[in-house]
Amino acid sequence: MRLCDKSPADLIGKEFGCACGKIHKTPLSYVDISSGAIKKLPDVIKTLGGRNAYVIADENTLKAAGEYAVSLLDGGGICSVVHLLGVEEGFERPEPTEQTLGNLVMGYDKKCDIIVGVGGGVVNDMGKLLSKLGHIPYVYVPTAPSMDGYVSDSSSVIYNGVKSSVPSKCPDALVCDTDILAKAPKKLILAGIGDMAAKLISICEWRIGALVTGEYYCEEVAEIMRKYRRLVLDNAGAAVNGDKEAIKSIAEGLTLAGTAMTFAGVSRPASGVEHYYSHLWDMRCLCEKRQCELHGIQVGIGTLLALEKYEKLKYIKPDKKKAEKAALSFDRAEWERSVRAYFGSSADSIIKIEQREGKYSPEKVLARQKIIFDNWDKILQIVEEELIPARELCDLFIKIGHPTSAEEIGEDAETAFCHTGDIRDKYILSRLLYDIGEK
Ligand SMILES: [Zn+2]
Ligand SMILES: [Zn+2]
Repeated sequence: MRLCDKSPADLIGKEFGCACGKIHKTPLSYVDISSGAIKKLPDVIKTLGGRNAYVIADENTLKAAGEYAVSLLDGGGICSVVHLLGVEEGFERPEPTEQTLGNLVMGYDKKCDIIVGVGGGVVNDMGKLLSKLGHIPYVYVPTAPSMDGYVSDSSSVIYNGVKSSVPSKCPDALVCDTDILAKAPKKLILAGIGDMAAKLISICEWRIGALVTGEYYCEEVAEIMRKYRRLVLDNAGAAVNGDKEAIKSIAEGLTLAGTAMTFAGVSRPASGVEHYYSHLWDMRCLCEKRQCELHGIQVGIGTLLALEKYEKLKYIKPDKKKAEKAALSFDRAEWERSVRAYFGSSADSIIKIEQREGKYSPEKVLARQKIIFDNWDKILQIVEEELIPARELCDLFIKIGHPTSAEEIGEDAETAFCHTGDIRDKYILSRLLYDIGEK
């Protein structure tokens, strides 16, 4: 049986030797994605050795499922202390800042021996971090199918005003009740669909990256993402109408995206240039002290923008002389100026990363150019095999009510795209265009 034919629960506690050379396994010890899954929460906690739960939620998720979870714990003989994440002035939702994490740590009751996160991405990011810091088991109860960080082992945080991803811990257990998910606000469901649409680009760019840079790639892991991306997009209309089976597919896809990243040991299966749009828009929002759009919505728009750009790729006739000239005329001082102008307070860390990685150094670019020119047809073939027409995704987004342009969420698409290659050394479309002198 191929990995893509297994459900998230089939993957637990087993090791899978793979043709890619890795042994794939997940640290999750329990996963249940089903109707009524939350009823088993007390038993799951007891199995992990918990008797006193530190429950993390926010005002909305407390109502959506937190209160119910606490009543189940009461009935199951488990004590609980509830900590609500606060919302900072000028924001609509809790943000993963030092302040939020600090409050969570200060509110921690020493007698608690297990953490239970009930909520969305920020609740989970904080829960995973606290679990890692305190060496305390962690159970995650999602309240919406909105992003693919359910079972990843990193947390998105805002530190010193800079958004970054820090190592945390994969939850020990995922208790995902599709009855709760189906009642989530429609926008959160759209966000989950956007984050799954992203897998079109992530897999395409993983293959291109492997071809151009020789990086690791696993076809088995890629196929898991293709399968669930198709399933989610095919049933997107039903999902936004609250169809539980369609919602379950999104939840499974989001869970498997985290698992796929663990399997591969890199974020390639789940994120490509579309996620970089999102990172950049988040950074701009932080600089300008604006509330940013939901991650999955940003990423859905990023996917559409990337599909449009990939469609133009086949009309480009790469010119060796032009590409070589562009690579050799890289002006580091000018590049730093543009990074400072765009990224503001985040610029220093981006410049430092580039100093270490040297992705724009002419000799590295020239070496990649040789591979690209020798394999241009193969690159176009990957694009052809992996992507769907932008029009198709755009029509689907319009039908289900997912935004289709950066302007709709108050962001800029073109300048952001130009800077997507700057953030870190991941081979994405903007890097490919740069390497062939088409940026
Ligand atoms: Zn593999
Ligand atoms: Zn994502």
